[in-house]
Amino acid sequence: MDRERRAAGVTMALLRLARGVEAEEREAVQGAGFTPAQVAALRFAARTRPDVATPGQLARVLGVRPATAVGIVNPLVARGLVARAPHPFDGRQSVLTLTPAGWQAWRRVEAWRSGLEAALGELAPGEFEALEAALGKVVAALARAGRLVVSAPCAGCVHFRPGAHPGSAQPHHCALIDRALGEAEAAMECPEHTPAA
Ligand code: SF4
Repeated sequence: MDRERRAAGVTMALLRLARGVEAEEREAVQGAGFTPAQVAALRFAARTRPDVATPGQLARVLGVRPATAVGIVNPLVARGLVARAPHPFDGRQSVLTLTPAGWQAWRRVEAWRSGLEAALGELAPGEFEALEAALGKVVAALARAGRLVVSAPCAGCVHFRPGAHPGSAQPHHCALIDRALGEAEAAMECPEHTPAA
């Protein structure tokens, strides 16, 4: 029971942190005419592997309905920051990419740092590593349970087969999409990333 009460307390603390960071971010980016959701869409287009940067995957990553994701992206398209490009393998889909102006805007907002980062910087080395490991475990458990979409590079994903094609320009393999991957592709974020236990 004590553990349950403490878990509820930690959950509340994490919620307060999330709300605080979002409020801080909203204030920081509104001068550039963005909402936090639009900044997340810019980040998605900048960092996601091109063949999975679809509007549907954006909706999964943001935890919103597809129509809501389209509503977030449309103003960025209208401002010439995001473009819808043909999918490299699937003619029925489009993918989101940043235009040169979009890359400039992303570079500016990417530099923003929250007060939370400064607070984390004040933790003692042992405390920081323990928190990093514990939060990583919690996020991975929620992702495996399907309660959270963690878009991340291939390393640490259950579907990743590093070095499966030795000597090839695409030395790695993804067992989920059954495709060879180059170093640069494997280093980009993928919304299908499934953390190993
Ligand atoms: S599912 Fe996993 S291994 Fe496959 S591309 Fe995505 S992150 Fe990489």
